[in-house]
Amino acid sequence: MKYIFVTGGVVSSLGKGLTAAALGTLLENRGLKVTLQKFDPYLNVDPGTMSPFQHGEVYVLDDGAETDLDLGHYERFTGTKLTRMNNLTSGQVYAKVLERERRGDYLGKTVQVIPHVTDEIQNRIQAIAEQSKSDVLITEIGGTTGDIEGLPFLEAIREFALEVGYTNALFIHVTFVPFIKAAGELKTKPTQQSVAKLREIGITPHILVCRSDRAMGKELRQKISLFCNVPYEGVIEEKDVEHSIYEVPLMLQRERLDELVCRLLRLETPPANMSHWQDILRKLIAPQHRVRIGVVGKYIELQDAYKSVYEAIIHGGVANDCGVAIEKIEAEEIEKFCAEKLLKGLGGILVPGGFGERGVEGKVRAARFARENGVPYLGLCLGMQVATIEFARDVLHLEKAHSTEFEPTTPDPVIALLDEQRQVTRLGGTMRLGAQPVQLKVGSRAAKLYGAFVVNERHRHRYEFNNDYRKAFEAAGFHFSGTSPDGKLVEVIELADHPFFVACQFHPEFQSKPNAPHPLFRGFIAATHAYSCQRGL
Ligand code: GLN
Repeated sequence: MKYIFVTGGVVSSLGKGLTAAALGTLLENRGLKVTLQKFDPYLNVDPGTMSPFQHGEVYVLDDGAETDLDLGHYERFTGTKLTRMNNLTSGQVYAKVLERERRGDYLGKTVQVIPHVTDEIQNRIQAIAEQSKSDVLITEIGGTTGDIEGLPFLEAIREFALEVGYTNALFIHVTFVPFIKAAGELKTKPTQQSVAKLREIGITPHILVCRSDRAMGKELRQKISLFCNVPYEGVIEEKDVEHSIYEVPLMLQRERLDELVCRLLRLETPPANMSHWQDILRKLIAPQHRVRIGVVGKYIELQDAYKSVYEAIIHGGVANDCGVAIEKIEAEEIEKFCAEKLLKGLGGILVPGGFGERGVEGKVRAARFARENGVPYLGLCLGMQVATIEFARDVLHLEKAHSTEFEPTTPDPVIALLDEQRQVTRLGGTMRLGAQPVQLKVGSRAAKLYGAFVVNERHRHRYEFNNDYRKAFEAAGFHFSGTSPDGKLVEVIELADHPFFVACQFHPEFQSKPNAPHPLFRGFIAATHAYSCQRGL
C-alpha cells in the first residue's frame, strides 16, 4: 500500500480536493486501485449541522454519512465508493479519545495530543488501508498549513510516513503563487514561507503543486525548487482552468505529476490512458447545442452550496452534447419581483434541496411558473416538496397548504414530518440519510429514464409527502411514479400533460459523474433542449 498526503498552503480554496481527486483519476487510469480520504480539523463531528454559509454543500454517501464536499470530487473523479470512514474530523477524533478515556482504556496515563490523538488519526489511515484493499490511499488534510487546529493531523502523518518508509509515503503540498499587478509578476514568497512552516514541523514536501492564474516559466520554477528544497521536476504548475474543472487531470498529466508520483513510490504502471476523459472534455468545451437552466435557491451567491447540483447539470449537458449556462436565481428575488421577470426565457428550471423558511415562497412560485408554462422542471428534495405545495394550492384549491416545517399549524399539511422523525430531539446525524431503494412505476417517465424499476438513491430529509392527500393529487394528474418498496413513502412525482415535470425526494446529484451522467439530469437536459428548440430560445 502506498500513501499520498496532500496538504495546502497560503490560502484556502485553492482546489486541494480537486487536485487530490484529479491525481486519483490519473492513477486509476494507470490501472491502480485508488481510494481517497479527507481529514477536517474542525471540531464538529461532521458538517451535517453546519450552515452552507459556513461550509458549502454537505455531501451524502451511500451509508448516510454527511461529509465534506471534497468527497463529492473524489467520487466524481474516480470509481471509488466512499464510506463514513473516508472523512475524519477533529470532532470525531476527540469524541473517540474521550470515550476511551472514560472507559479507562488508557490505564492511568495522562491523555495527550501526542500520542493519543495522533494515534487515533493514524488508526483511521490504517483502517481505510485495510478496508479498501487499494494500491494507493490519497489523504487530503483540510485547512491551511499554519492553522493551530491542523497541527495534530500534520504530526500524525509525519509519524506515519516515518513508520511506513519514504518509498511508501509521499507529501504533496498545494500552494499559491499570486500575480502581483503592481509588480507585473508572480511571487514565490508565500510558497516559500508555507513550505518553511511545513518543514518546521518535520514534513518536507516531495512535490509542490503551484496554483496560479498564469504560466510560471522556467526561472520561477527554478527559484521555487531552490528555495523550497524540492527537485525541479517536483514543481508542478496548476493554472486556473479555462473551461472546466474536468481539465485538471489532463493538465496535471501534461505536467507529469502522475509519472513522478509513480516513480517516487516505486509503482510500475503503463501511462494513464485518458482518451475517454478527453472525449468528455471535448463535449464540454465545444458542444453542439446550448441551453439555459435556472437554479432557484437560497444560497445562490455561494459557489459551493449547490456544488453537486451544478456538476450534475453539466454532466447532463455532456450526455446531450449541450453546453449549459446556469442562471443562479435567488428565491427571495422571485418573491420581490414577479416570477415571469426572472424566469422567462429559461430552457428549464431546477429547484434544489434546502432547509428553513427563507425563500420558500419564491421556490413555490418558480414551480408554478414551470407547471403553468410547460417549462421543464426538476425538483430535488425540497424542490419536490415545493412542487407539491404549489399543486395543492393552485390545482386542488387548498389555499393554505404547506409543509409543517414552515407552517406547523397549516390546515393542509401536504408535506409533514416523517413518522420516524417524531421522537427525534437531537439534530446531528438524525435525518433520513443515505441510500434507500426506490420502486418506480411501470410506464412512468422516471422508469423510462432509469431503464430500471428499482434504483438506489441517497437521501437527506425529515419531511415527506403526506399520504392523506395521495388520492386527491392522483385524481388531478399528479402522479406518484416512485415510492419506497412498501409503497408508503413518496419518492418521485411527475405531472401528466407536461413536457417534463419530475421531482424527487432524494438527491440524484450525489451519484452523477461526468462519465456516467445521472438519468434524471440526462432527461431534464434533453427536455430542456427540446423545449428550447421548439421555443426558439
Ligand atoms: N427541509 C426538507 C426536509 O427536511 C428538505 C430537505 C432537503 O431538501 N434536503 O425534508
